[in-house]
Amino acid sequence: MTDELLPCPSWCMDHHEPDPNYDADGGAHYSSELQVLLTLADDYFEGAVSVQANAGDQDGKRDTNIELTAPGEVWTRLTATEARQLAEHLIVVADLVDPQVAQH
Ligand SMILES: [Zn+2]
Repeated sequence: MTDELLPCPSWCMDHHEPDPNYDADGGAHYSSELQVLLTLADDYFEGAVSVQANAGDQDGKRDTNIELTAPGEVWTRLTATEARQLAEHLIVVADLVDPQVAQH
């Protein structure tokens, strides 16, 4: 185990202590999970889309990312910049199909 552990990020809601079986492991940190329940569900798409920040510490270095998960065990990891770009794109296409809300 590394001698010094990094402090929890301010958003850490679910803290995982370092695994004693791995010397380099410095623990992991997870934010609360934000979900949108999908209403256009069918057998494949039933469920929710969720986002969660997580950080894994190893050898005194932190790898932070945003995990985006969709039904069907589909998930990927984004940087903060990519997450902001995705959010902007979601607003653009939402305004295309629902222009009444776009009057701002
Ligand atoms: Zn933590």
